[in-house]
Amino acid sequence: MVSDAQVENDRVVKQNDVPLNEKADYVLYWSQMNRRAHFNHALDYAIELANQLDLPVLFYEGLTCTYRQANDRLHTFVIEAVPGTGKALKERGIGYAFYLRRKRSDANDIVYRLSERAAAVVTDDYPTFIAAEHNARVPARINRAFFTVDSSCIVPMNRFQKHEYAAYTIRPKITKLLPEFLHPAPELKPKRAWRGKPPDFHVKVTPGNIAELVASCEVDHSVPPSTAFRGGSDSASARLRLFLTQHLKDYADARNEPSTNATSNLSPYLHFGQISSLEIALQTREYARAHRLNADAFLEELIVRRELAFNYARFATDLEGFGDLPEWARKTMREHARDERDPVYSPQQLEQAQTYDALWNATQKELLLRGKMHGYYRMYWGKKIIEWTRTYADALQLMIHLHDRYALDGRDPNTYTNILWCFGLHDRPWFQRPIFGVLRYLSIGGMERKTDTKAYIEQINAIAARGTDPLSLATVER
Ligand SMILES: Cc1cc2nc3c(=O)[nH]c(=O)nc-3n(C[C@H](O)[C@H](O)[C@H](O)COP(=O)(O)OP(=O)(O)OC[C@H]3O[C@@H](n4cnc5c(N)ncnc54)[C@H](O)[C@@H]3O)c2cc1C
Repeated sequence: MVSDAQVENDRVVKQNDVPLNEKADYVLYWSQMNRRAHFNHALDYAIELANQLDLPVLFYEGLTCTYRQANDRLHTFVIEAVPGTGKALKERGIGYAFYLRRKRSDANDIVYRLSERAAAVVTDDYPTFIAAEHNARVPARINRAFFTVDSSCIVPMNRFQKHEYAAYTIRPKITKLLPEFLHPAPELKPKRAWRGKPPDFHVKVTPGNIAELVASCEVDHSVPPSTAFRGGSDSASARLRLFLTQHLKDYADARNEPSTNATSNLSPYLHFGQISSLEIALQTREYARAHRLNADAFLEELIVRRELAFNYARFATDLEGFGDLPEWARKTMREHARDERDPVYSPQQLEQAQTYDALWNATQKELLLRGKMHGYYRMYWGKKIIEWTRTYADALQLMIHLHDRYALDGRDPNTYTNILWCFGLHDRPWFQRPIFGVLRYLSIGGMERKTDTKAYIEQINAIAARGTDPLSLATVER
């Protein structure tokens, strides 16, 4: 560990016993999830180590064709961010390498190769997706000091020792710890700027060659890019600005009216780390102070709910199953496992939005088109899948599959935690009813009473018909 560290110790864990390699050319930051040049504690930690050893820093990010459901949508979103990341790192004096593993037969050992000349490897502490697997496997195999750093949460995940039961148990703890952590990341300056050339495997990305690069990859080409979201930290910042200036003032009420599009739409950018929740929270607080607004409802979602999800994922023993659900939820599902479901839709019918329910179909179409669903209807989407599939396990599996395949914010701690919320996680028992037992139920009547379902359905159908999306920045900023 670095003495007099500027990155809080709570964020950093050394994952093996290998000492720093003193005869090295750089410190390697392997950006797996937090793919950004600013407000990144892991990158800052790599700079701290490098400054101590008088070395430059190399920022490496890769994109493989082998992750579950790899497709054009996810690939495009990640690759779109590359030119901006490279430029921002250059301005900070940090080296940058991007590797696109187009085919399964392409090299799969880049981190090991780069580590040979590294003093240490620093990477993101992240509890789901490929990063969680890598961080469990690589430290024992790589002959370099290997550090994981939490730059995903404002209050580091390490400050919690076990599963929190619900929002009401984690909220007071987070509130107490926030003054310690809600301040800007150090944004350290490297003492030694990177002067080397990019490694030979580096793939140059320009706005003009992204489609061609994606087409050259061995991935599923049948899922097109999002109608609304372009990848990159610049897009994320523009979305944040738009949210603060136009929607923050109404967020507390309008977030539950999907047709107004009043939420931040930052979840895809948060998932791929193209913006940090810390930066969003600080800017929101500042904007709210300057304009005398109350940002509590938004910060509750961004900090308390989101970090509750990271806490769940970190300590989960059965992330994609029911094993960690509270006993009341598992018991009620056992008791209602044989209840009749009518209708039962096949996974294909659900995937293609072919049910009798126009609102549900619109939510599924939103996922197919935009790669994200509005948060309020997302709850309805999940609950209906439980009602229309033969078993709870089938419903869970299908929800995860649809997120893997279509959602730009899928594979996230928020994905698993919120899908499992549909099955009782972080919730409480409600009233007995068929299929759901005491799991909370959401009805179409409730949706129609509380929201303008007609306006939302029309909006989604119009995107499908015209191909233009009112949520795309190009449309909003016109
Ligand atoms: C069945 C189901 C599946 C979901 N799957 C995902 C998913 O794959 N990825 C994902 O990021 N969120 C998921 N959510 C949570 C929530 O719906 C989204 O975070 C939210 O809709 C993202 O839109 P936004 O960025 O405009 O949110 P905003 O309302 O602007 O909120 C800002 C940020 O706060 C966080 N947040 C908001 N709501 C929640 C919540 N309920 N729990 C935890 N964090 C929250 C997100 O990071 C979000 O980007 C799911 C919810 C349900 C019910």
